[in-house]
Amino acid sequence: MKITRLETIYLPEYPSFLFVAVHTDTGLVGYADTCYMPEAVAGYIHGFAAPMLLGHDPLAIELHWRRLYEVIAHTVGKGAELRGLSAIDVCLWDIFGQVTGMPIWQLLGGACRDRIRTYNTCGGPSYGKAAKGGTGYGTENPTGKYEDLAAFMERPGELALDLLSEGYTAMKLWPFDYVAHYPGGWDNWRNFRGMFDPNLRSLGGHDITAADLNRALEPFRQIRKAVGDKMEIMVEGHGLWSLPAALKIARAMEEFRPAWLEDLMRADDVHALVELRRGTTCPILASEYLATRYEYRPLLEAQAADIVMIDPTWAGGITECKKICSMAETYKRPVAMHDCTGPFTLYAGIHLAINAPNAIYQESVRAYMRVNYPELVTDMPVLEKGHLLAPTKPGIGTTLLPDVRKRAGVVVRESR
Ligand SMILES: [Mg+2]
Repeated sequence: MKITRLETIYLPEYPSFLFVAVHTDTGLVGYADTCYMPEAVAGYIHGFAAPMLLGHDPLAIELHWRRLYEVIAHTVGKGAELRGLSAIDVCLWDIFGQVTGMPIWQLLGGACRDRIRTYNTCGGPSYGKAAKGGTGYGTENPTGKYEDLAAFMERPGELALDLLSEGYTAMKLWPFDYVAHYPGGWDNWRNFRGMFDPNLRSLGGHDITAADLNRALEPFRQIRKAVGDKMEIMVEGHGLWSLPAALKIARAMEEFRPAWLEDLMRADDVHALVELRRGTTCPILASEYLATRYEYRPLLEAQAADIVMIDPTWAGGITECKKICSMAETYKRPVAMHDCTGPFTLYAGIHLAINAPNAIYQESVRAYMRVNYPELVTDMPVLEKGHLLAPTKPGIGTTLLPDVRKRAGVVVRESR
């Protein structure tokens, strides 16, 4: 079997996503997606990776990873290049599964569980979609169904009850974001664009006032009042805070017994993370911002996190993420798989989480699973009582809808 064609598919309605397909001379096609700066990733795939892969055996997965990574490391190229490598790796695992007739979790060594617990990340359908190439919050005009971001800001107790009625027992929200860049600006939260706000004059996050802190705690008060301890609560920090502010937030959150505090700070300083972790009783999670074993190792060695978050198509693909899961296990750390970054990435995370002994959660966004992803792929993961079931189809378990390549404004590029 030989790789005959690499294809990238960009849809303007999903400005952060790039779909990647690896075609073979057998007719089998492996799919993946990658998130953020899609043109840069397409440039890497067609300009660099394709010449290294065309004509080669797609099942030499480990070898391809190493060959591509050696050059990436040699050129200090991590971002777009590593996202491209990660997506290609997922495509190759998809082909492997189709060749063998088995789901990827089986090929990784089999199932440690038949389902993985999930939590609802409370973003709406346009979360992550609003700004080209960026992370718009999608809060400018939240009028559709499953607008969970607006819900956690405006009626958090009601949202928690709704999720509980669907079987969810965990939810993640990020009310602190709205005071990171605009101290005192809570009431303007619908216009929040984070770092993509063209009117932003100074980056915040270096302090949080008592008033802002108190206001941002209100959703947690209302959730606990509505559902008691029936709901696990995760806090997303998006890496916006400095250490003193993160400590204030963490200590104030202790009374709500969160499952974890996620990325209150960027994970680029393990010593600051250690200080945060030692300064609070809340579990600290880090970080989807890290990539490859070589970045997770210092985090683990420094004991800078209680729980390790991994994004399969940011951190190095399925090949690398299985190793990161194993490495975390040796440090007695559980792993949680990241989503928000595309339907194939969600599936990749589920396969890893079904296989990894130390996986505790697979992130998911109900708005994406019910509104966005069904517009893109044939199959969706099965959600049952707050758990995602092990996929049963060969390979990744879903494929790109046939009409996606014909939609208005689509940009299809291929190398053969
Ligand atoms: Mg996160």
